[in-house]
Amino acid sequence: MKHPKASSKHQAPNTRKAPSSKFQAGSAGRGLELGTWDFFGVWNLVFGVWSLNRRLRRCGLSSGLVSVSLVLAVLCVADLQARQCVVCDIGISGDCYLITDRVTGLEQVICEGCVLLKTRCYLCGMPVKNDLMTLGDGRFLCARDSKNVVLSDDEAQRDCADARDELVRLFSRFTTFPKTNVTVVMVDRTQMDQLMQTPGFDRQCPSVNGYIRSRVVAGGEWKHPINILNGLPKYRLMAVCAHEFGHAWVRENLPPSRDIDRDSEEGFCELVAYKLMERLNQQAQMDAIRNNLYTRGQFDLLLEADTTYGFYTVVQWMKCGTDNCLRSEEPDRIRKIDERRLLKPRRESPAVPLVFVPNRGKCVWERRM
Ligand SMILES: [Zn+2]
Ligand SMILES: [Zn+2]
Repeated sequence: MKHPKASSKHQAPNTRKAPSSKFQAGSAGRGLELGTWDFFGVWNLVFGVWSLNRRLRRCGLSSGLVSVSLVLAVLCVADLQARQCVVCDIGISGDCYLITDRVTGLEQVICEGCVLLKTRCYLCGMPVKNDLMTLGDGRFLCARDSKNVVLSDDEAQRDCADARDELVRLFSRFTTFPKTNVTVVMVDRTQMDQLMQTPGFDRQCPSVNGYIRSRVVAGGEWKHPINILNGLPKYRLMAVCAHEFGHAWVRENLPPSRDIDRDSEEGFCELVAYKLMERLNQQAQMDAIRNNLYTRGQFDLLLEADTTYGFYTVVQWMKCGTDNCLRSEEPDRIRKIDERRLLKPRRESPAVPLVFVPNRGKCVWERRM
């Protein structure tokens, strides 16, 4: 099937106009299963009616009955080809548009009226017409996704505390994670935007899910203030927390001499979040992390190393590996470490804060310059 360029200025990045034929649009939009059924179903029906008519004629039945059955067949074919817009639930008579639901990953068919809707769910990216939820900062949620988000600050704090406690249990054999010196504050989009405009941040992305800004205070102790966007689904929220705790761990545990590549640090934090999601049986979140290309392969190499050698090897490499990143040609170099680097504890402030941003439907981490 052709993938024509999205031509309308109203179309979102996850939307494209379907091929002109309704049949093609349907098979693309509703998935191969239905499209295949349509194709064979329609022709089986036509063939069946044609065979039936031949037998009826042989039996000497009237041509009127034959005509009626043919008309019925045509109507059935037309009905099979009719499509409904998943947004407004009305049959589509004009152009069809294909839009990818970012939550399910499925491509859906919508009508030309709904493709113009400005109200888009900030989680799945689908247009929302009925039963939409509007948050105080202007974000919209579809009826389905509004049921799965954490809106209460207390509940979000409990989820973050649970995430941290699970991390401690999960990694208790290898290391521990900061606790008393970490604060998590839920913010809305407006507040997050304001935070991004503080010195050191540059507002580049319209959608930011959270960030950590670790610093050393008087007495040499680390403080890790974390801000997370409210209104996230529970397990995405916990994955964001886990990733942030990963950065807090990096700040406190890597010696000053350790020069770690930015992508490797992101990959490590993604690995921490991934393993937490694995422990909690959250396949969708695991897939989202796996499909995220932001760490440029570092997450995959770290996951491979974790599977092959165990998390202890990953932790040791993070602390005192001789390479600043992993290379796919020599993944075994994760075992090359220089333990002399561990002699001096790390006590300097990170130069650049880290933020979590959705990027075309996939959540990625960025270091804001
Ligand atoms: Zn519609
Ligand atoms: Zn949605």
